[in-house]
Amino acid sequence: MAGLASASSLSSMFDEVLLLERDTIPTDLEAMSAKRGGVPQFQQPHVMLVGGLQLCEKLFSGFKESLREAGGQPVDWLKDCKAYDFGVYMEPLPQSEASPLGSVGATRKLMEHTARNILQTKPNISLQCGSLVTALRFSADNSTVSGVVLKDGNEISADIVVDASGRNSKVSEWLEAAGCSAPPQQVINSGLGYGTRTYKMPKDWRLKHGWNSFLISPRPGTGRQGLLLPVEHDRWQVILTGLAGDHPPTDEEGYLEFARSLPQKDIYEAIKQAEPIGPVYTYSRTENVRRHYEKVDLPAGVCILGDAATCFNPVYGQGMTVGIKGAILLRDLLQKRLGPGVKFSSEQSKGALKGFGKEFQTELAALQDFPWTVATGDDEKHLRAAGKLPPKKKSVGETIINWYFLQAIRCAMHDYKVRAKFFSVNHMMVPPTAMFHPSIASKVALISIKDAWGALTSA
Ligand SMILES: Cc1cc2nc3c(=O)[nH]c(=O)nc-3n(C[C@H](O)[C@H](O)[C@H](O)COP(=O)(O)OP(=O)(O)OC[C@H]3O[C@@H](n4cnc5c(N)ncnc54)[C@H](O)[C@@H]3O)c2cc1C
Repeated sequence: MAGLASASSLSSMFDEVLLLERDTIPTDLEAMSAKRGGVPQFQQPHVMLVGGLQLCEKLFSGFKESLREAGGQPVDWLKDCKAYDFGVYMEPLPQSEASPLGSVGATRKLMEHTARNILQTKPNISLQCGSLVTALRFSADNSTVSGVVLKDGNEISADIVVDASGRNSKVSEWLEAAGCSAPPQQVINSGLGYGTRTYKMPKDWRLKHGWNSFLISPRPGTGRQGLLLPVEHDRWQVILTGLAGDHPPTDEEGYLEFARSLPQKDIYEAIKQAEPIGPVYTYSRTENVRRHYEKVDLPAGVCILGDAATCFNPVYGQGMTVGIKGAILLRDLLQKRLGPGVKFSSEQSKGALKGFGKEFQTELAALQDFPWTVATGDDEKHLRAAGKLPPKKKSVGETIINWYFLQAIRCAMHDYKVRAKFFSVNHMMVPPTAMFHPSIASKVALISIKDAWGALTSA
């Protein structure tokens, strides 16, 4: 997804954008296999956060509508999703309420297909499938990238090369040829494992139950959680996850039993009466990996984004949105260097790329800080509790912020306005500082005072 988004971003500044893809991808959606060699997580359910969906609209005009036309299911995260967290149910809001969190549930296959189709209507973008990149080419003094080498030996010259080749990116090895050191890397692995299965949604489910999606969070409890996500063809993609090797089994009985063991039985009850389609697919390469390319002196013209730069624990559904945000950042920073509306020209604009890699990777790292904190926070806690990470003393500031956010989440369970704001932060529509707006902070303060008063009077 980050590659498609980057191609769209760069097409406004470059005469020609070539998207090199290692896999062979049929143009017909139905002919497309549910598996993708280059995207091992392809079969797994993918939630596009609302912030990401909004940005998709800028890069792939008509994206949301096209998903809907292809059968993507409407999901409003405030009005269609029931959730269980902190020992409390969060009921969906009535349909008559206004909500900023309208979205579409679709498979990764449909989302990618839709974005790719829209992209291919741009005359200066071409997609070259079956083209595995195996190396980069540089200028004689290694100061600038000059192109890429393909597995078949062909070389393609380029002014700028964006690596968006995902979690298994080899770009740091390729950069070694230009004398670059490997980026410092952080890995936080809680041993999370997915088991997912597709089901036919029982007829009129939404009408009868008032929700079409369901999220069960692990707190407080075992670390097991689940999500029912509606997708095209009136289906649910069901995700069950567990930590530290406690992964959902793939057999019928074991999978249902795992669903039954979640803090509430709603997902179990729903899938027990739904018709399964296909087997349970497991996935366990879910570790958080952050490659600090902002600390590397990159040759001019190389940029790295998406999972190639940072992979997140996927349960928070952030990966695609961060990849898309990275692509927009790329466009905005480069356009700033070129000047408003100015197109890149090999002869006149080369200077614009000098030091650009450092600037881009530094800004990208800043953009990734918040999602990284979200993705790693609980994982670190579990690893510390299991003695796999050393204990960490929190600063007073961190303690206060953590306490505030916990109170805010509790408040969101009961208060629609706080919930809407909290979801908007989680869906990357607004920055986390939005939670400190006086209209929210006053409600959080009130609930804290009520709690303190309750504790005092019951003592
Ligand atoms: C189990 C699981 C569930 C997830 N759920 C969500 C979710 O709900 N929401 C969400 O936003 N994110 C989710 N993610 C994360 C999401 O899949 C990634 O963050 C997102 O796909 C990143 O996109 P990318 O373009 O960087 O990499 P990828 O999507 O992995 O794409 C890389 C592309 O590069 C191609 N490629 C690779 N190497 C080469 C090469 N050498 N030459 C040419 N082409 C090459 C591949 O074929 C592929 O097309 C999940 C991840 C996992 C593992």
